[in-house]
Amino acid sequence: MRIPFDNSYAALPDGFFTRLSPTPVKEPKLLAWNADLADMLGIEGADAAERAEVFGGNILPDGADPLAQLYAGHQFGNFNPQLGDGRAILLGEVKDKDGTRRDIQLKGAGPTPYSRRGDGRAWLGPVLREYLISEAMHALGVPTTRALAAVATGEAILRETGPLPGAIVTRVAASHLRVGTFQVFAHRGETEALKTLTDYAIARHYPKVDGPLGLLRAVCAAQAELVAQWMSLGFIHGVMNTDNCSISGETIDYGPCAFMDAFHQGRVFSSIDRQGRYAYGNQPQIVVWNMAQLATALLQQMDDKETAVDEATEIVHDMPELIEAAWLRRFAAKIGISSPRPEDVDLINELLSLMQADGADFTNTFRSLGTERARDHFTNLEAFDAWAQNWRDRIEGEPDPHAVMHAVNPAVIPRNHRIEQMIEAAVEGDMAPFERLLKALACPFVETDAELQRPPSEDEIIPATFCGT
Ligand code: AMP
Ligand code: MG
Repeated sequence: MRIPFDNSYAALPDGFFTRLSPTPVKEPKLLAWNADLADMLGIEGADAAERAEVFGGNILPDGADPLAQLYAGHQFGNFNPQLGDGRAILLGEVKDKDGTRRDIQLKGAGPTPYSRRGDGRAWLGPVLREYLISEAMHALGVPTTRALAAVATGEAILRETGPLPGAIVTRVAASHLRVGTFQVFAHRGETEALKTLTDYAIARHYPKVDGPLGLLRAVCAAQAELVAQWMSLGFIHGVMNTDNCSISGETIDYGPCAFMDAFHQGRVFSSIDRQGRYAYGNQPQIVVWNMAQLATALLQQMDDKETAVDEATEIVHDMPELIEAAWLRRFAAKIGISSPRPEDVDLINELLSLMQADGADFTNTFRSLGTERARDHFTNLEAFDAWAQNWRDRIEGEPDPHAVMHAVNPAVIPRNHRIEQMIEAAVEGDMAPFERLLKALACPFVETDAELQRPPSEDEIIPATFCGT
């Protein structure tokens, strides 16, 4: 196999990471391979067996310079001064066909100095979950890490519920720099490292910006767009800790994330998010909070602190407005409006309130707007009809509202119950449900598989999701 590695992170100072190779596994078997992405990355040659050996961590490909990255992070609001890749190993980077530098990282590749009490492994469920959901997000047009390969390790790993089949997902990202990467050096008072990291992040992601505050502004803009996009799809990340908040503005770390079926602003899936800190409706506020942490970290390197603090504060304070603008643009498109007006916020929120009152299916309600089926999602028909009348008045004269809606309201999303059913089958060795989901989710705006559009029946509802670490 030829992977055209061109590594830059490995050239950063020693304190940024620990060099180490993946821990070999017993019997690697290739479960999924993303041929399009491999092609995009310029990866050539190799059959399934060799791919399994490489992306199972048994063979180190030429040019790889494997390492585990150091970072810190606020987890559920509490600062943890040292986290780091506890089970992920960066093989290296390649420049893709568009010229963008991409990390190739194995997740579940064995223990590292940052594993704390963990075993460095992942089990099949979360690996296939991440594979499917990240690829679905990509097809939905959301900035995200992607999945190149899933490999079963042939080893059992121990979790609370007993032994489970081990697996490794190969994740591809614009980079794995996180808010927490800045926090670790800021917290330690390692100003030189912080400066080096800032320059590296600017050169890699935002080459046109100037200095730490320029970087802050760029990341705020990217994260504002990202969270608005999550909101517009009913996506709940579930663990928006600062170590899971990427500098590139990609969705990263698919743990207990989920797409909502029945709409509710307070929806939480993650079993560990007991306070609902990362509930659907809280996500915009949390992103701002995370950016405030990034600002605090970046400021540690500034000489003229007073002016810098004022400027950084202003950048973070401007963020809610950015998010609202992005939110309005995306939700307006969901109801067929191409050029939103400020008062459209009320029209959109009225619909969301009606949906919440009836527990209407988020995806299917939007997809059905303008058709007879829309009314089926509501019990308060009088209220819905009144809303629909206002809406029709509003979109009169809008250029092709139905085409606008169809381009942004997906037909197929990775529904939780389907993901769980897929995992159950995969554990039994049946990858057909995985393949079926993968195929439909590659074209989420097309009605290709009616059964996958169906919300869960009462007994199919998955009330909670697990980190599955
Ligand atoms: P997460 O909540 O998945 O973003 O993980 C938080 C931290 O825990 C990161 O530093 C991970 O590398 C680490 N971690 C998660 N699962 C494991 C595991 N099975 N073994 C070692 N470290 C882990
Ligand atoms: Mg993480």
